[in-house]
Amino acid sequence: ILARSLWSKKAPLQMGRMCYSSSVPTTKLFIDGKFVESNASEWLDIHNPATNEVVSRVPKATYTEMLAAVDSCSRAYASWSETSILTRQQIFLRYQQLIKENIKELARLITLEQGKTLADAEGDVFRGLQVAEHACSITSLMLGETLPSITKDMDTYTYRLPIGVCAGIAPFNFPAMIPLWMFPMGMVCGNTYLMKPSERVPGCTMLLAKLLQDAGLPDGTLNIIHGQHAAVNFICDHPAIKAISFVGSNQAGEYIYERGSKNGKRVQSNMGAKNHGVVMPDANKENTLNQLVGAAFGAAGQRCMALSTAILVGEARDWLPELVERSKALRVNAGDQPGADVGPLISPEARARVEMLIQSGVDEGATLLLDGRNVHVKGYENGNFVGPTIIGNVTPAMKCYTEEIFGPVLVVLEADTLDDAISLVNNNQYGNGTAIFTTNGATARKYTHEVDVGQIGVNVPIPVPLPMFSFTGSKGSFRGDTNFYGKQGIQFYTQIKTVTSQWKAEDATTKAAAVTMPTMR
Ligand code: NAD
Repeated sequence: ILARSLWSKKAPLQMGRMCYSSSVPTTKLFIDGKFVESNASEWLDIHNPATNEVVSRVPKATYTEMLAAVDSCSRAYASWSETSILTRQQIFLRYQQLIKENIKELARLITLEQGKTLADAEGDVFRGLQVAEHACSITSLMLGETLPSITKDMDTYTYRLPIGVCAGIAPFNFPAMIPLWMFPMGMVCGNTYLMKPSERVPGCTMLLAKLLQDAGLPDGTLNIIHGQHAAVNFICDHPAIKAISFVGSNQAGEYIYERGSKNGKRVQSNMGAKNHGVVMPDANKENTLNQLVGAAFGAAGQRCMALSTAILVGEARDWLPELVERSKALRVNAGDQPGADVGPLISPEARARVEMLIQSGVDEGATLLLDGRNVHVKGYENGNFVGPTIIGNVTPAMKCYTEEIFGPVLVVLEADTLDDAISLVNNNQYGNGTAIFTTNGATARKYTHEVDVGQIGVNVPIPVPLPMFSFTGSKGSFRGDTNFYGKQGIQFYTQIKTVTSQWKAEDATTKAAAVTMPTMR
């Protein structure tokens, strides 16, 4: 009920697109504390990926609306940045509780628009909730530094202060977690926030905004616009916006990093991945195979930390048939169906791309050990389903290895030694995540020290750090110098003011002007 109230059921006349029944709800903008209908002439359909039925429509916000949103952020900044830190903390304490109370509804919206299974959608909300909870520690996180008596009667101390209006641009694959990496951390630091959710899954962000308003957020502190390139360019160019947090593909992320940086903004850009799971022959076989299957095919492989590549080292090659058998056992179904393990892909285009990359592997000489194309899901014949797929005998030059597939496809390479596996991983352009499966501590240590990847799991397939740490993808998976959440997130959303003061108890008057550089000795 709460979610639907954010949508208007009035369907404005379509320009150059198909006609809609008036029952299709529209996604609103959130401007200056109000959920408002857009005057846009261009709208995009949002489909349920399990059926391809249109579930709502999202506007491409007009320039005037985007301007209104950023102006609202600018006005609100004057008071929000001066709000006491305890007031901000209290709002986020209430917020995290409201997210907990609405987790089922948030998950339902995610499954409706994004397709992932309900259980996985709850995990999506939960990992975002942890960031909102972490934001409540702001009273410790924003502490400055002091050094007394740097010279006689002189002390230096620093404040951490907000930077102004910040903006977030989010991808489709984690409709709750990734927006929650962004605006709670930015806002609890005293910044105001302009959010642009993925135009493919905006519903969850709208409900998250409503909950934050219910938690006591002042009007204008958070604004939400919708759209694609024009909205992104607006964010990159508007002078009031001081920092941009982006998560998504390399194509968009590199563009936004360059355009935003050229305009003098801070930009952190989390991008694509090709994550390797290295399987040593001494690993716990049962555990490793289950972990690999879950991390390759969970969320239909649409996770930036999915283990999309396995490297079987030495005798671990022999485990391949069992890996295939376990993968076959996963149930492909609509995300809201009981027992579903693998939901649909986000769109027919995504499905066609994944199928094209599977075929490219076959054409280039790899072996298709499990083929998830043409999977039949009873009752959901129009959905974007691809079943678990495993491609063996893959070599580093093949397209199915060089490109991020972002689907339920595991490509398998083989290596004779740990050194060979490390060099394969290090030669890959991406550096988001990796995992090693072994029972040998020395092997694990060698791997974690020698591999050039930002996030490493030892017998942990998806090592996404909790929010007291930071999300630290590297190489081609990241542009910028401070990462999302954790200490680095606070650094990204704050600037430092340093005060050096001298208070002399007596002899307060200097005798003559000193024109040399003060050495403070
Ligand atoms: P995407 O790049 O298509 O979209 C992300 C955002 O950028 C959207 O809000 C979209 O409107 C905008 N956008 C899209 N194309 C653009 C363009 N050409 N110019 C300017 N803006 C553009 O990404 P997606 O398909 O929504 O998400 C999947 C990608 O995100 C995958 O590559 C995945 O690995 C990556 N991802 C990375 C992380 C991470 O933390 N490294 C996390 C999640 C997803």
